[in-house]
Parts: sequence; structure tokens; C-alpha cells
Amino acid sequence: MSFLEINHVHHTYFTKTSATTALSDVSIQIEEGEFISFLGPSGCGKTTLLSIIAGLLSPTQGKVYLESKPIDTSNDHIGYMLQQDYLFPWKTIEDNILLGLKLSNQLTNETKQYALDLLGKMGLKGVEKQYPKQLSGGMRQRVALVRTLATEPKILMLDEPFSALDYQTKLKLEDLVSNTLKAFGKTAILVTHDIGESIAMSDKVYLFAANPGRVHKMFTIPDELRQLTPFEARSHELYTTIFQKIWKELESLE
Ligand code: ADP
Ligand code: MG
Repeated sequence: MSFLEINHVHHTYFTKTSATTALSDVSIQIEEGEFISFLGPSGCGKTTLLSIIAGLLSPTQGKVYLESKPIDTSNDHIGYMLQQDYLFPWKTIEDNILLGLKLSNQLTNETKQYALDLLGKMGLKGVEKQYPKQLSGGMRQRVALVRTLATEPKILMLDEPFSALDYQTKLKLEDLVSNTLKAFGKTAILVTHDIGESIAMSDKVYLFAANPGRVHKMFTIPDELRQLTPFEARSHELYTTIFQKIWKELESLE
């Protein structure tokens, strides 16, 4: 069995007057340490699938296994990084990065030091006593990443974490996140509607189609690109080739 197994997952949202099938027969296997992207237009079920993997939502059919065990709802296996950083404005950066550890009863001198060291590694030494509003958008996303990594989750889910940033900040943060996750050997799932971002950052790209949400095609990113940083990958000739391929597939879905 793979590290993470998504087996024939189907999900329908029911309201009083309607039923929306958000996911139809989705099966995906992810190995430990892999960086995967879920790419697709809005409404194709990407966030629904993340919620199911996180154990926040039970699928109407199908099962998800992490290390051969069914996903439970305790949720401590997952770290989230979202479009909005969700830092608490009234708490200092230090209190913000320790929050996840506190909530999961993991706060010790050791884990605290680990989190503070991580902050330094992200180039944010000296901001501990500052408040989120004193930091730029890119810095706040780095703080959010530290908070997420501090609890040492088994999987990191990144739901469009760069989409609210200006282009230059986004490119820099892509490299930082990619290098950091590689260094830690973390398994990660990135949700994005940005073709370039998915190619530059991942080992595999799952292209989703909508109505109902499903996996349309999987693309394996060649080693030549995976060895490069996302920024370098963007100027490799293979990047353009794969971009065109995915673009054509996306067009065929419309
Ligand atoms: P994505 O993240 O790819 O944009 P979502 O998973 O958010 O897609 O949504 C997939 C489909 O399910 C959409 O048609 C959306 O309208 C519907 N949907 C999402 N959440 C709910 C909900 N809580 N209740 C009803 N329908 C929902
Ligand atoms: Mg979404």
C-alpha cells in the first residue's frame, strides 16, 4: 500500500433542494516524500478532496488510508497552508507559530525551540515579538508555514497558498517552500489553478475536470525538472513542453 491511498472516493453534497456531486470515483496513490499538485478550474472538487484527506469530511463513498490505516478525524496528521494566512492579529509572531503546538498539546521547551529555529531558517529572525500587520504578505505566509511545520505533520496541504501574493513574492516563496519541504522530506499536496506553478513545484500533477469533479489525467514531471528549483524549472525547455500538453488537455475539457 502507498503512504496515502485515496480509493474510489465519491462525494455528494446534499441540501434541502439539491444534490451536487463534487467528486466522482477518485483514486490516487501518493508515496511518502512526494510533492503532488491537484490542478483544475474552480468547482472541480479540489478543496472537497483535501477536506476528506484531512478527515474533516466523510466521503459518501470510498476510503482514504494513511500508512495503511483509515483516516481518522483526530486530524493531527495534517498541516494546512491556505490562501489566507489566518494569523491572529492580536498575537505576536512567536505566539502565532506556537499556537498549533499548544492546541495539539505538544508545546515543550524542545518543540518551542524547534519552531523558533525554523523561523530563523525562513529568514525571519528577529520578528518574534512583532505583530502580523507589521509584516508583508510573503513574510506572513512564511510564518504560517512555520506554524504548520512546527507540529511535524505527516502531510502538508497547500490550498492555493500563493494566489494572493504579487508575482515576485510568489516565485520566491515557491522556491522557499519547495526547498524546505524537500529538506524535511515532507509529503505535500498543492492545490492550484496555476499550470506553471504545478509544473514547477511538483513530482506529479493531477488534472481535475468538473461536473462531476474527477481526475482527468495525471502528468509525471520529468526528473530534469524535478531536480531544479521551481524558479529554474520555469526557464527549462521541458517546462514549456509540459505546459503546452496540460494547456491542450484543459482546453479539451471546456
Ligand atoms: P474547488 O476547490 O475545486 O473549487 P470545491 O471542492 O470547493 O471545488 O467544490 C466542488 C463542488 O462542490 C462545487 O460545485 C461546489 O459548488 C460544491 N460544494 C462545495 N462545498 C459545498 C457545500 N458545503 N455544500 C454544497 N455544495 C458544495
Ligand atoms: Mg478550492
